[in-house]
Amino acid sequence: MTRQDYLLTCLMEESAELAMACSKAIRFGADDICPATRQDAGKTAKQRITEEYIDVTALYLMLQNCCIIHMSQDEVSEAIEAKSERVEDTIKLALERGIVK
Ligand SMILES: [Mg+2]
Repeated sequence: MTRQDYLLTCLMEESAELAMACSKAIRFGADDICPATRQDAGKTAKQRITEEYIDVTALYLMLQNCCIIHMSQDEVSEAIEAKSERVEDTIKLALERGIVK
């Protein structure tokens, strides 16, 4: 396994943890506090989402340093804006169809 493989594996794991934190916020509410028996005891769903987002971002930046990701900060900012616009378009469609209220 190379360093790049290792970082990609970590990014997959952290992405899955972020997805799980988002899922729990939907199922139990964003302000839900993790039960005392769990690893994240006392943290809200919002806190867990933030922590996992930071983990994902850290791995992304480490992969950028490995030269696997070739985008400037301006390109990343433009891509984020374009993605946000696409998501807003799909939210409008979901509103029209009554999926999102
Ligand atoms: Mg994590």
